[in-house]
Amino acid sequence: MSVPFAERTKRLGTETAFAVGAEAASLAATGVKVYPFHLGDLNIPTPEHIVEAANRAIREGKTSYCPTPGITPLREAMAEEIYRTRGFKIDADNVSIQTGGKPVIGKFIMTLMNPGDEVLYPNPGFPIYESMINFHEGVGKPYGFRETDKGFSLDLEAIERQISPRTKLIIYNNYHNPTSAESDMEEMEHLADICLKHNIYVLSDEAYFDILYDGTPKSITRFQGLPERTVILYTFSKKFAMTGWRLGAAIGPREVIEAISRFNVNDESCTNNFVQWAGVAALRGPLDDHRKMIDILRERRDTALSILNNTKGIHVATPDSTFYLFPNVTKAMEKLGMEEVEDFRKFVLEKTGVSFTTRNHFGTPLPGETQKYIRLAYSGIDTPEIIEGLGKMKELLG
Ligand code: PLP
Repeated sequence: MSVPFAERTKRLGTETAFAVGAEAASLAATGVKVYPFHLGDLNIPTPEHIVEAANRAIREGKTSYCPTPGITPLREAMAEEIYRTRGFKIDADNVSIQTGGKPVIGKFIMTLMNPGDEVLYPNPGFPIYESMINFHEGVGKPYGFRETDKGFSLDLEAIERQISPRTKLIIYNNYHNPTSAESDMEEMEHLADICLKHNIYVLSDEAYFDILYDGTPKSITRFQGLPERTVILYTFSKKFAMTGWRLGAAIGPREVIEAISRFNVNDESCTNNFVQWAGVAALRGPLDDHRKMIDILRERRDTALSILNNTKGIHVATPDSTFYLFPNVTKAMEKLGMEEVEDFRKFVLEKTGVSFTTRNHFGTPLPGETQKYIRLAYSGIDTPEIIEGLGKMKELLG
């Protein structure tokens, strides 16, 4: 008997990167040494003072339900964090605590998008954007990136070209997964102008805002008129090495945040009480461990970059943010006579155990795309393993 699935389930996408993880795990189970560059998770522990705050909160009995938009001390600490790091004044009412950054994507879309509304979103990009737009019957309008000497920049032309009277929202992921693209001020201001001119609301996915190796992070909310039309996706996952804790927030105009919190009531009721107390400790505590983590990640980045840029047929610029590299492998594939980047991924995995995702795990390639890319995450692999794994790949392609 076949299950009578609801029609809408057919519109729900997924993160195909998890399938690569499963493939790598089954290869490892056969005794092959696998080098895990596929998943954006951290193999660095959560700072001790945050762990201790959670333990203390449990012992103190912070194990009951708590307010739907989050506990007040955390919402207040978040408001201060936003003022400190983004420079605009908000209060606790502008903050809705979430079980990670990811739920902000669906809740933002459910709150502001009607069926048939058009939503601009990055492709390549985090696959949940497209999944949520389709699931809630919006019309996704993908925009891409241009490869430059310094990395990648937004295809602003593609954004402007696709704007129509039905365009309501844009998803903007500065410090971008998977390309690590970082807007300069000019690019960000141009985008802010477009949003103001066309009355477009913004989801600013700032998951990697604090994973920065140079300079100070910038949010699109720095431009006049933008805080009134932007929801920030904030997460504790990366900055505080808390991916599995599931703690994040939606931050934006009060009335939008109230509506988002109504989804909290209907869905999870509230985010885990004692995890929120750990979040207070994270925001109010020392940042020494965070800085150490950035130093570790920087060393991994530099190690990977120097091997990749010495590998035949591969080139990649030095990104100043995220923990991803998005090397161009077009020439390496040409040499192997391969057309599909998925074939290249499988070939390298089988021959060397080096496991990574490709451009195709971050959306269907756009018309006119000719270059081939893979994505390497260095957040979950130590430097000696990076040297060993990428060394094998270099030899294979040499
Ligand atoms: N946005 C981007 C661009 C991401 O890469 C991720 C996670 O990898 C998220 C959002 C969601 O992260 P989390 O739900 O752990 O906060």
